[in-house]
Amino acid sequence: MPERIFNFSPGPAVLPQSVLEQAAKDIVNFNNKGMGLIEMSHRSKDFMAVLDEAEALIRELLAVPTNYKVLFLQGGASSQFFMVPMNLLGPGKKATYLNTGVWAGKAIKEAKAFGQVDVAYTGEPNRFKHVPTDDEYSVAADSEYLHLCSNNTIYGTRFPKFPDKGCMLISDMSSDIMSRPVDVSKFGIIYAGAQKNMGPAGVTIVIIREDLLDRCPATVPAMLKYKTHADKGSMYNTPPTFAIYCVGLVMRWLKEQGGLAAMERRNEEKAALVYQAIDATDFYRGHAEKECRSLMNISFNLPTAELEAKFIKEAAAVNLDGLKGHRDVGGCRASIYNAFPLEGVQKLVEFMAEFAKKNG
Ligand SMILES: *Cc1c(COP(=O)(O)O)cnc(C)c1O
Repeated sequence: MPERIFNFSPGPAVLPQSVLEQAAKDIVNFNNKGMGLIEMSHRSKDFMAVLDEAEALIRELLAVPTNYKVLFLQGGASSQFFMVPMNLLGPGKKATYLNTGVWAGKAIKEAKAFGQVDVAYTGEPNRFKHVPTDDEYSVAADSEYLHLCSNNTIYGTRFPKFPDKGCMLISDMSSDIMSRPVDVSKFGIIYAGAQKNMGPAGVTIVIIREDLLDRCPATVPAMLKYKTHADKGSMYNTPPTFAIYCVGLVMRWLKEQGGLAAMERRNEEKAALVYQAIDATDFYRGHAEKECRSLMNISFNLPTAELEAKFIKEAAAVNLDGLKGHRDVGGCRASIYNAFPLEGVQKLVEFMAEFAKKNG
């Protein structure tokens, strides 16, 4: 095997090496049963234990209150864009959305099919470099919920503080779940595709307050009702067993690292190094406004597109991989999720200083 590179991919993304090594063993022979984990019945005792442990660790790490269900679904965060309004809205019902980027925008588009949608804020005019504070928008009293995307993967912005508008929050946390402690009780639903900060692609984590399960119109298909999956403990149909198992391993790793408060400190430390490198010269320009800079995704530009291409190419040659920005903002993006090592951040920062000196 070649040397392990530093993988700045926005998702699927870097996982702890210990998790990969354990998974590689268990895929062949799990619990010494003479068969691999992915060959095993999802109803087997061994797999049920895997599912139970993954759920228990998510609950423990995020301090999920007992009146919430933790579900393992499929279809990605993108399916939650329609499942949320499909389950919670209906004729005459209203929800408020904050448009802080492409993913938030997709959620808005889907919601419009199921009820009245108030877009209370849009960051489109300033290319989504800003995330609103509470005084920049209002939420109608008859709004069922306020939907936001906690971390905007493409632009590198986040909500440093969650809204406090007296309205139940629903958040797409795909790219920063488990990166910081969160008060789950402020949210009706938290959802996240696992492939950024929790595991491989193929499973979507949904944390939902129990009283919301009964709001769903009867006409919604069984697979698309949260209640179906909640009642059956995410085993209504075959769940994505391998992805759930990997999420469990990542949760074990997170616990060993000291949990979410310790992880947040480490994430702050890593992100600060990159932001210092950006702010140190005029050569680099961060996309996000300072107050809402993401700890997970750092989007930045160089003076020209040619220099950006050169930067990405030369970085890849020294094993700093995946630094190309999203096509919507261009430039460069360093995604440094929980499992991204400090050593890789240090190497990037050194590379940035050298590159600026040579090309500035
Ligand atoms: C990646 C991403 C998505 C899309 O997730 P899928 O699981 O591919 O549907 C949605 N929201 C955010 C914030 C993301 O980063």
